[in-house]
Amino acid sequence: MKYYQWTIGCQMNFADSRRAAEELDKLGYQQVDRPQSADLILLNTCVVRQSAEDKVTGRLTSLQGLKRRKPELKLALMGCYVNEIPALQHRYPWVDAFIKPSDVAAVVELAESQVASRPMDEALPAEAPSLPVSVGVPINQGCDHLCTYCIVRLRRGPEVSRPVAEIVAEVQGLVRRGVKEITLLGQNVDSYGHDLPVPASPEPPPAGADKTGNRPPDLADLLAAVHEIEDLARIRFLTSHPADMTDRLIEMAARLPRVCEHMEVPVQSGDDGVLRRMGRGYTVAEYRDLVTRIRTAMPGAGLATDVIVGFPGETEAQFEATYRLLEGLRFDMVHVAAYSPRPGTPAERLADDVPSQEKERRRRAIDDLQERIVSEINAQYLGQTVEVLVEERHKGKWRGRTRTNKLVFFEIGSKDWRGQLVPVQIVWTGAWSMQGRVGE
Ligand code: SAM
Repeated sequence: MKYYQWTIGCQMNFADSRRAAEELDKLGYQQVDRPQSADLILLNTCVVRQSAEDKVTGRLTSLQGLKRRKPELKLALMGCYVNEIPALQHRYPWVDAFIKPSDVAAVVELAESQVASRPMDEALPAEAPSLPVSVGVPINQGCDHLCTYCIVRLRRGPEVSRPVAEIVAEVQGLVRRGVKEITLLGQNVDSYGHDLPVPASPEPPPAGADKTGNRPPDLADLLAAVHEIEDLARIRFLTSHPADMTDRLIEMAARLPRVCEHMEVPVQSGDDGVLRRMGRGYTVAEYRDLVTRIRTAMPGAGLATDVIVGFPGETEAQFEATYRLLEGLRFDMVHVAAYSPRPGTPAERLADDVPSQEKERRRRAIDDLQERIVSEINAQYLGQTVEVLVEERHKGKWRGRTRTNKLVFFEIGSKDWRGQLVPVQIVWTGAWSMQGRVGE
């Protein structure tokens, strides 16, 4: 039995696909890289912007012919595209299953029914395949913020956190199978745990918790608990929400040596009026202060942010304010997107009045600015020796990342560096990667 997976969207979707792949592997499926060779196709989808949604509908349409020629093929559609299922069933009658975001159990159910209908010898469970060095682990689903432009809450629902013990057990299992780095994932990881029960006394509070322990666990507690896992080399978490990032979290992240100096804190706009209309819950001054607190606690941290340009009513002056904010704060990475009206969101009712050409001009201006800034930041690494966690071979080189999330390549020599923390001397830097040298 063979399966083909196609994933688009956030890291959460990629983590869900990885979890689904694990389960399919356990059932004896083999992954293939062409839909034509598959018995089961899983499309994991995103609708955060219209461009992502268009890719999904394009994929669905292109698979219609294959399904007609191969009716025994199972086609499953998963992720944020899956909303009103009866309407989708009507529109895409050739799709066998519509699966809500992150519902890996439903993928398993579909696969099990397919396996059950096959002769026994075709469905022998395979050996667990090896895992990547770095793996994302979802810690909460959904989001409790009501950003006026965002469809995620409508599709993924309010925030639901996984219990600390369940996450720790999953990470322990991954580490036993050779994983060295985990990224704790969520639409908003900073509010992790607020929906979990208060630990019942007389059980001890989680490591690092307030002495009383009379509150639910938070991300700082989770970091402390995961940090205890032996042989786990690195921990990251993303994405954050500026209104939910506490000093307690920043201090914990800075104090725990295996937590990397890397944070992703979306600002979205550098103008208070736009932030208010986006429903973000902070001001530009508060955001600047947050960045200062992070950088004070973690000097040299790799910081990333997200920006939306062309939000309804965004004037040239408001865009300029965003530009200047980014110029001043000098991030390591800026994910910039042109505003895209999303069905059912409050902002959809506002006039989408920034012409698409102008949105594109603003997007490019920020991309160009960022390319210059990150080239300058990366140039400061020249000659330094940095710790790189080596992930894999790529185009004839070893590829890994620094603690600050910089991509580093170095020559393949006689040693197998996969999964190792290696001191690498940086000999060349560009905007998107660096080259280094290793003493063997
Ligand atoms: N924690 C994050 C935050 O603070 O906003 C949430 C991540 S969000 C689901 C992913 C990114 O997609 C957002 O940061 C935003 O920049 C972008 N995005 C969401 N809705 C969008 C829209 N309607 N148009 C353009 N970009 C959008």
